[in-house]
Amino acid sequence: MAETREPLATYRTKRDFGASPEPLGRERRAPESLRFVVQEHHARSLHWDLRLEHEGVLASWAIPKGIPVDPEQRRLAVHTEDHPLEYLDFHGDIPAGNYGAGTMTIWDSGTFELEKWRDDEVIVTFSGGRVRGKYVLFHTRGDNWMIHRMDPPEDPDREPPPHVRPMLATAARARPRGESWAYEVWWNGERTLALVEGGRVTLTDSEGTDVTETYPEVRELGSSLGATAALLDGDIVVVGGNGRIDRDELDARRRATAAAARRRSRDAPVVYMVFDLLWLDGRSLLDLPYTERRQELVELGLSGPAWQTPPHEPQEPRGLSDVVARYGLRGVVAKRGTSTYRPGRQSAEWRTVPMRWR
Ligand code: MN
Repeated sequence: MAETREPLATYRTKRDFGASPEPLGRERRAPESLRFVVQEHHARSLHWDLRLEHEGVLASWAIPKGIPVDPEQRRLAVHTEDHPLEYLDFHGDIPAGNYGAGTMTIWDSGTFELEKWRDDEVIVTFSGGRVRGKYVLFHTRGDNWMIHRMDPPEDPDREPPPHVRPMLATAARARPRGESWAYEVWWNGERTLALVEGGRVTLTDSEGTDVTETYPEVRELGSSLGATAALLDGDIVVVGGNGRIDRDELDARRRATAAAARRRSRDAPVVYMVFDLLWLDGRSLLDLPYTERRQELVELGLSGPAWQTPPHEPQEPRGLSDVVARYGLRGVVAKRGTSTYRPGRQSAEWRTVPMRWR
């Protein structure tokens, strides 16, 4: 008779293990460790390719927002064609004009334990450098699947991005006394927070209104950050044809429809001058002193066609005077090095200072 449920049932039925020294067979083979890779693929649109070793090939899904960390997040995973096992190590540039043209890097790799593999549902536990834990992929319709995490994240301290309004400066007549001040250019632009998660950018103004469609050229900031999640604070400005800050063009942009904003983004692009970092990869930086937030911001290396990390002087504003003059601006912002970020507050620890000290 064929063995049905219990693989060793026939073997066991035939034996008396009290009388025979033969093994009962308690040992279970450890679940098989299979390999996986997640490639960050800067193609026409940024996505992450998840590939799982299965029956001699790599079953593959393209995940537009990347592997979710939070069990609350369900993310789309588009099933794509099986790839060869050699693709586990593949990274490099796929030349323009070819399928998947763009840059592919290995975002993570490792092994997984397979719990369930059906045509419409896959459950695995990843042991990667970045992706760890139990995940389910399940089919919804067509090529569309969803992926979500089934166990709580390993890092219970991971915080969601804070919902905050910008910290505001106080107007001062002269630069503050004392040693503990740092200086930035007073851009006098449109104060804007940028939340970047899964390569996607959401911009909000100082009132909390979503202005993402007003500045379409800033979206690429998201793919430049890849899987890094961050909440940024800064000023959006327009540099006019004469090289000076063009406040009129910026005001026109703010009033533009989404379609008009897209046209203006080509004719008179904005630059997002990022001067603060409020949250990074599940960790709030609000209570860190300004100097430490600034350091972490600089380490992100934000520099692109429509976003910059503008200069800063740790003790003495004079080094910024050329920048202020060149752009036709009024002065600098003094920030106390020890100051924490106070959302929505007007604080004397940030002071706008006109350039009378020259
Ligand atoms: Mn891809």
